[in-house]
Amino acid sequence: MEIYAYKCKKCDHIHYPFRMVCKACGQNNFFEFEQVPLPKKGTLLTFTELYSLPADFMVSKMGLGIVELENKVRITGQLAIENARIGMPVVGEVEVVRRGEYDSQYGMVFREA
Ligand SMILES: [Zn+2]
Repeated sequence: MEIYAYKCKKCDHIHYPFRMVCKACGQNNFFEFEQVPLPKKGTLLTFTELYSLPADFMVSKMGLGIVELENKVRITGQLAIENARIGMPVVGEVEVVRRGEYDSQYGMVFREA
């Protein structure tokens, strides 16, 4: 499974999440974006741990991190890492992060690379 970013067809700038107007060139406001899968490898920029989670998260605590991916896109994801360190290399997988009654939400879960 993949999470997609959106590449401007005019200047190649990559956006995540989707934007209606390219933030790099400003010229692209006609939805001319190409879907590209996000890379899975990146660097952990910062993180926090959450202990008061809604009941439908299937974990007792959760690490949340901001990761800069290989293409410089920054993404928030869950951390499945015991002793996270800022600057460590990580690799992500798209997994169910929240199980709902009728549907489940997918997101990126990062592990030590
Ligand atoms: Zn552009």
